[in-house]
Amino acid sequence: MKKIIIVGCSVSGHTAAVNLKNKSDKFEVSIITEENYPFYDRRKLTELISGNINEEKELFVCEEEFYRKSNINFLKDSAVVSANISKKQLSLKDKQASLNFDYLVVASGQKPVVPEIPGSRKTGVFSFYSLQDAKDITAYFIDEQICLVGLNDVSLHLSEALAAKYQTGVKIISEVAPSQAQALPVGVEVIQSKPQEIIGEGQVQAVKLYSGKIIAASAVIFTDSRQANVGFLKNCGIETIDSRLAVDDLMRTSNKDIFACGSVASRRDAFQAEKTWEDCLNDGINLAENLIKITGD
Ligand SMILES: Cc1cc2nc3c(=O)[nH]c(=O)nc-3n(C[C@H](O)[C@H](O)[C@H](O)COP(=O)(O)OP(=O)(O)OC[C@H]3O[C@@H](n4cnc5c(N)ncnc54)[C@H](O)[C@@H]3O)c2cc1C
Repeated sequence: MKKIIIVGCSVSGHTAAVNLKNKSDKFEVSIITEENYPFYDRRKLTELISGNINEEKELFVCEEEFYRKSNINFLKDSAVVSANISKKQLSLKDKQASLNFDYLVVASGQKPVVPEIPGSRKTGVFSFYSLQDAKDITAYFIDEQICLVGLNDVSLHLSEALAAKYQTGVKIISEVAPSQAQALPVGVEVIQSKPQEIIGEGQVQAVKLYSGKIIAASAVIFTDSRQANVGFLKNCGIETIDSRLAVDDLMRTSNKDIFACGSVASRRDAFQAEKTWEDCLNDGINLAENLIKITGD
């Protein structure tokens, strides 16, 4: 049996694993996630924060038991930290043994970047992408105004959820002004600038902007720029495009036994805009079909 390891258990990785198993019995499929949960729907994280979703379980697409029943090895809380391409091995954080693969599928997505500005590591500074981020934000005591950095669909939904939940003002700091299509929720204001420093004794008290303005804040949440999670492949010599893994029409990277799908992957022959959830889901389906075809199964 050919061993396939999928790194990342979100929409593209989970879909690829399930389709591989459903359409062929010739693969041993393992799916590894650094998160502590099975596949959940990130798109609902703002609803979790606002309290519209009462149970965390409403977020989950499946339970862990699903993978056992589907004969998929599921490894949670296991960050892949490096890869040895010639030996076809992956190393996991805090684990001695490495994992062998015949084919590797990178479905590790993206992560928001918190810029290295003074004060960016203070308590009360968050990024917002994962369930853990949502839990950390809701567990934090927020009694004053909140600053979000970055103007996008996620920050607009999050600002609305936070303004309603904490009955507090929310400022969105953005270098770009809102477009006419971007209606601002009640209690939310956009300030056109960029954070220069986060001020506070140990924890956040204010944000200093490049415009010179200082805004009081009890929490600062970065939702802005994202970068592909490809750190574990550094020194492997795999071709990238703007930090994402370059893939061909079969979703194969520059290494013939390594494939990539979802938001971490970008077609090398065509401009590819930011992928939607739906795009990533289709990537997972197509990847499974391609792998089955390529391996002649
Ligand atoms: C709050 C929010 C709302 C959104 N709303 C929408 C929406 O309405 N519509 C829409 O189209 N899109 C939306 N998106 C974007 C959408 O969620 C992403 O496009 C989609 O999740 C990308 O899926 P993916 O499979 O590429 O991987 P991701 O969802 O990015 O997940 C990758 C997974 O891989 C794991 N991983 C990374 N590196 C490693 C490693 N080294 N070892 C082990 N595991 C690793 C990560 O922890 C993560 O669990 C939203 C995103 C957020 C955060």
